[in-house]
Amino acid sequence: MSELFVIVEHRLGEIRDITLEMLWKAGELAQGLSYKVTAILLGHEVNSIAETISDRADKIIILDDERLKNFSADISKEIIAGLIEESRPTLTLIGNTSWGMELAPCLAVRAGLPLATDCIDINFKDDKLTAQRQMYGGKIFSNVSFSPSAGYLLTIRSGVFPRDRIGDRQAQIVQKGLSLEDIPMKKDFIEFVETAAGDVDITQAELLVSVGRGIGEEENILVVKGLVEALNGVLSCSRPIVDKNWLPKYLQVGTSGKSVSPKVYIAVGISGAFQHLAGLSGAGTIIAINKDPKAPIFRAADYGIVGDLFKIVPVLKEKVLEAKRG
Ligand SMILES: Cc1cc2nc3c(=O)[nH]c(=O)nc-3n(C[C@H](O)[C@H](O)[C@H](O)COP(=O)(O)OP(=O)(O)OC[C@H]3O[C@@H](n4cnc5c(N)ncnc54)[C@H](O)[C@@H]3O)c2cc1C
Repeated sequence: MSELFVIVEHRLGEIRDITLEMLWKAGELAQGLSYKVTAILLGHEVNSIAETISDRADKIIILDDERLKNFSADISKEIIAGLIEESRPTLTLIGNTSWGMELAPCLAVRAGLPLATDCIDINFKDDKLTAQRQMYGGKIFSNVSFSPSAGYLLTIRSGVFPRDRIGDRQAQIVQKGLSLEDIPMKKDFIEFVETAAGDVDITQAELLVSVGRGIGEEENILVVKGLVEALNGVLSCSRPIVDKNWLPKYLQVGTSGKSVSPKVYIAVGISGAFQHLAGLSGAGTIIAINKDPKAPIFRAADYGIVGDLFKIVPVLKEKVLEAKRG
């Protein structure tokens, strides 16, 4: 049976969400094609990570060695190329993360396979693979097809697929031996530098309230912060808010910001430019508040409120607090 490889990404003992997102997509593809989902897990003392994903893959190949404790593209490339040569998977999925962006191109050269990067969707139709990518900062969606090949490599954008479990799987665990001595190391791992304390990761938030230029003045952001607090959500924003230095860059949603996948996204005074919407493809329910009924955000929204945000947001906040008080 053909296999779909998913390269597991983890850091400091924690599985990265991109792995769960790729396993979801691989599971979805496998259902239609009766392929096997194989997770490739490189690291040191990674049994707990294998356990986390054991119901999301049919097989987990573990390569455990102290020298794999921290990510190394030099070593990973050689090991994964060996596994690809051995099993000939139809597709190998790698996160389009700083980790995957380093690994995928050199793996493609080493394994002699075609690569498409930063994909936001994958389709197999009549045994023909197409991958969807964005071009020109998200203005154009392109469907990429490939010349026939023994296998294909794709890097997957974070936040575009759900992290839920798909299908009912029970992974067979395969421990592989390693011989790393002959692999030339061109780089040394020095240290992880964590983001500064207090920084918020909007890609992890389940409820985002996002503020746009419609807020008018910096001090008015407090109005939206009130709703954020009432909902126990997280504040994010569109690019003009960052350009004006009203909020930090790490809160920006969109092509030059972050792709987010909250269950609920509330856009306040945001027009819905394609560069902003491109960051929302993984969002669940989108609610828009805008005074312009023709604003493009309403085409992407599940619920829309047409009106002045300064009248609507305080009322919403009160309703939420009332509901909380019971
Ligand atoms: C290369 C490139 C990359 C980009 N990357 C990003 C990105 O990552 N993220 C991003 O967001 N943008 C990005 N942009 C910018 C993008 O094109 C838009 O300019 C931006 O998204 C607009 O932000 P906005 O919706 O907050 O502002 P506007 O487009 O100005 O919209 C403001 C909205 O507020 C509404 N409004 C005004 N007052 C009120 C009120 N009182 N009550 C209710 N509604 C009100 C208006 O009707 C309007 O629809 C990028 C642009 C380029 C060229």
